Amino acid sequence: MKINANYKNLNESYLFSTIARKVNEYKAANPQKEIIKLGIGDVTLPLVKPVVDALKKASDEMGVKETFRGYDDQIGYPFFKEAVAAYYKKKNVTLSHNEIFISDGAKSDIGNIVDIFGKDNTVLVPDPVYPVYVDTNIMDGRKIVYIAASKENGFLPLPDNKISADIIYLCSPNNPTGAAYNRDQLKLWVDYALSRGAVILFDAAYECFIADKALPSSIYEIEGADKCAVEFCSFSKTAGFTGVRCGYTIVPESLIADGVSLNKLWRRRQSTKFNGVSYIIQRGAEAVFSKDGQSEILRNIEYYMKNAGLIDNALEKKGVYHTGGKNSPYIWLECFDGRESWDFFDYLLNTCGVVGTPGGGFGETGKYFFRLTAFNSYENTRKAVEKLSAL
Ligand code: PLP
Repeated sequence: MKINANYKNLNESYLFSTIARKVNEYKAANPQKEIIKLGIGDVTLPLVKPVVDALKKASDEMGVKETFRGYDDQIGYPFFKEAVAAYYKKKNVTLSHNEIFISDGAKSDIGNIVDIFGKDNTVLVPDPVYPVYVDTNIMDGRKIVYIAASKENGFLPLPDNKISADIIYLCSPNNPTGAAYNRDQLKLWVDYALSRGAVILFDAAYECFIADKALPSSIYEIEGADKCAVEFCSFSKTAGFTGVRCGYTIVPESLIADGVSLNKLWRRRQSTKFNGVSYIIQRGAEAVFSKDGQSEILRNIEYYMKNAGLIDNALEKKGVYHTGGKNSPYIWLECFDGRESWDFFDYLLNTCGVVGTPGGGFGETGKYFFRLTAFNSYENTRKAVEKLSAL
């Protein structure tokens, strides 16, 4: 037996375990001091009532012979795909049910989509980056080329014709930088992909946080994207589904790569290796799109964005360079006094008990940057901001 030797090329991720260790050490040494975590990457508000009601109702249906459901062999029930299609219609994007694949979250689909691509493709990944894009390609042994997201390009790198790539990962609004592409910038990426027969894997997990209506919340709002892009979306941050698990992936029927329909390949892949999302969860996620569901999840998003606004304003006042916080729950700031991000982590923890995430953990270009998130409570965020402002 031989293992997949590519796994030996994976870097061990010490980011969150190192943070936890440092926080525990600080707690032990300073038991009376308060710690405020602005490094939280998970939601903290509970599910909204329309979702809970739908989950309960669907559970009851499963206990009755007439309404019981077994396998979902369509990779998503029609009622739910209809709700997703109606949501996209509001963005002026028309989708057929065939183009919508319901999943148990964006991470699985982002990780699994590489199954349908040849191992000899070159992959283009922005740096800093959500680590899943990198690790899943290392597992397959693909060549990875990095494009720097930096202060110079506002953490929104644009295509470089000198770089040759077959698969391009884009995430907007971005984790970790919070930066969001505008239409013209995304159009440049779409044109770049079309000109070289490349495929864009567009991660829209944070699309709901876009407040500026001029910004695109789906890549299909850009002309030509239906011929070169796959889009991943998630209910995790949108509706507090991190523990419930549901998302969807759009693979347009017009997306032909290497002479083959990627929609057909993905359907083949999913129907072979995936048996669908439970009926109960799909009913719960459908309720997110209901009138009450939308108004309640928007209230939660506004709550988080109020926190983001507190951090954003405080940094603005202090003249600290940062991205995010306006159309994203993430704020990405330049470490004060030219500190390296782990050094800055220690500095914040020791001076004011505020915990964030060192940018270096997301890639080389993040070495002098730091991620704060809006997922703590308003009271805690306000306290943390006061402490940061006093520095
Ligand atoms: N994409 C990005 C950029 C994320 O930050 C996350 C989760 O943090 C995901 C995808 C995964 O989302 P899900 O919970 O739907 O798997």
